[in-house]
Amino acid sequence: MADLDVVVVGAGFAGIYAVHALRSAGLTVRAFEAGGGIGGTWFWNSYPGARCDVESKDYSFSFSPELEQEWSWSERYPAQPEILRYLGHVADRFGLRPHIQLNTRVTAAVWSEDEALWSVTTDDGAVVTARFFVSAVGCLSAYQVPSLPGLETFEGSWYHTARWPAEGVDFTGKRVGLIGTGSTGIQVAPEVAAVAAELYVFQRTPNYAVPNRNRPWEPEAERAFKSRYREYRKEARESFLGVPITGTGRPVLDEPPEDVQRTFSERWRAGGGMPFLGAYTDLLVDQAANDVIAEFMRDRIRETVDDPAVAELLCPRTFPVGSKRLCQSDDYYAMFNRPNVTLVDLRSTPLSAVSAGGLSTTSAFYELDAIVFATGFDAISGALRQIDVRGTSGVALADQWAAGPRAYLGVAAAGFPNMFIVTGPGSPSVLSNMALSIEQHVEWIRDCIGYLSAHGYGTVQATSDAEDAWMAHVTEVAYSTLFPKADSWYIGANIPGKPRVFTTYVGGVGPYGSKCDEVAAAGYPGFALGVP
Ligand code: FAD
Ligand code: NAP
Repeated sequence: MADLDVVVVGAGFAGIYAVHALRSAGLTVRAFEAGGGIGGTWFWNSYPGARCDVESKDYSFSFSPELEQEWSWSERYPAQPEILRYLGHVADRFGLRPHIQLNTRVTAAVWSEDEALWSVTTDDGAVVTARFFVSAVGCLSAYQVPSLPGLETFEGSWYHTARWPAEGVDFTGKRVGLIGTGSTGIQVAPEVAAVAAELYVFQRTPNYAVPNRNRPWEPEAERAFKSRYREYRKEARESFLGVPITGTGRPVLDEPPEDVQRTFSERWRAGGGMPFLGAYTDLLVDQAANDVIAEFMRDRIRETVDDPAVAELLCPRTFPVGSKRLCQSDDYYAMFNRPNVTLVDLRSTPLSAVSAGGLSTTSAFYELDAIVFATGFDAISGALRQIDVRGTSGVALADQWAAGPRAYLGVAAAGFPNMFIVTGPGSPSVLSNMALSIEQHVEWIRDCIGYLSAHGYGTVQATSDAEDAWMAHVTEVAYSTLFPKADSWYIGANIPGKPRVFTTYVGGVGPYGSKCDEVAAAGYPGFALGVP
């Protein structure tokens, strides 16, 4: 007899909703969270400038119409403290905190075939058993600090953005080096530049950023929007990205150039990455089409940055627009016009070492008081691989995923019975509005467990054939787009030695949800259901 019905690992958007949904279905549930607070991404990434890039009317829970109506977002893209407050409110409103154990890392999870239960070990040495094991460890929670020789000798302070001190960091009058120009680096840089004596931005690959045009959500507009929130959420679930976007519905290559410029300019003025990239149908599937949007964006950089040489260094050329997460910032490029900001091009002069006083490249030494690493994550599989997960016959998940992470429908790995992965490899996860994708997965998992109970089954596991077929489909769809052309974390290229496999489903949130619904309605083909 297991201690619990379900163990959940993690208490971000996914863990919080899993606790609520599974408890509401009558199950006994405990979540373990390594952090000292709930919120996941929004607990850890408290660096200055952190905010969402999907508008919060979308990037929020839809499961409760009451919650939806009573919560008010202050702006279009709220900053991290507000999103963290929202998640705290959700936990309080639905009485979830007593079921979430903080400051506790899950270190191992082992399936017992005889007893048909999971034994879950935590870093305090405790072991708890459960019928089901739900991973909500996050696609972007295992952060990475590059191994730079001499970092341990640095006499200043260094930080990774995903482990930012809760009390904040005062960079006033300091000489700061920032490594990394992804979504995070682009958000944190202008905030540091505003107070630091000097900011050196160490750039290996320039990135595309569209403006946010962030602004307050006026009460009038909010009221009008909320009056049709339910219909809007339905449209979101059926949409391609988990956000209803209105595109032109036409390929850019068929449009007269002046219309293209007008369309992109209008969307540039309105702000937001998804509407911009969603303007035409061929932007992410045809390199020639992508070249059009890329040149439009490079022109915006050139007209913003005063020094033409700096502007050219900031112009991305090595990957298609959108094949890495499109960054969003209202002030990143303009920041390079400040006298206290220097762009250091690591392509021509790579980083070589850290020493007591600062950072060296192959051509210069930069005296620094602080280094900020905005160097990203071992994405999709990194956090789950840090747990010693063992399935049937003691097979380790880490071994099974040696050639790349895989899961049937992005939610269940073959050979790991009664284990579910929220937004796992093979799901739309990181290429969607994740709040919505998380809800869809959690509800599917809840319903699957409900089906087992209702039909007298005790176990469920994906078959290898179903997993293989699904991952082949995921690969086929991915390689019909431009996504695999980028050396991005989407494909594991940012982690030395990680297999280069594109594991996110780019076939669309709506079609993916329908497929999951079909499988459930048909009694879970592709899964072996067992009586314990
Ligand atoms: P997380 O929020 O990452 O939570 C996972 C939790 O699991 C963490 O708190 C972690 O400590 C815990 N955990 C991991 N391993 C263990 C273990 N072994 N034991 C115990 N606990 C463990 N997505 C969007 O759609 N829109 C956005 O605007 C957006 N902005 C983002 C901004 C930043 C800075 C980052 C890093 C990501 C952003 N994302 C965004 C992606 C974001 O990660 C997801 O939207 C969402 O927050 C993920 O929720 P989650 O619960 O799945 O994972
Ligand atoms: P990232 O996109 O992986 O960017 C990491 C950056 O660090 C890249 O510029 C990378 O350069 C650089 N880097 C890594 N190792 C390096 C090294 N050894 N030397 C020099 N440079 C190095 O990570 P991220 O910016 O944290 O973003 C990850 C994801 O989180 C995003 O794609 C997005 O999904 C999410 N996010 C969203 C928001 C938001 O706007 N809401 C904000 C932050 C994060 P290369 O490109 O050359 O590898």
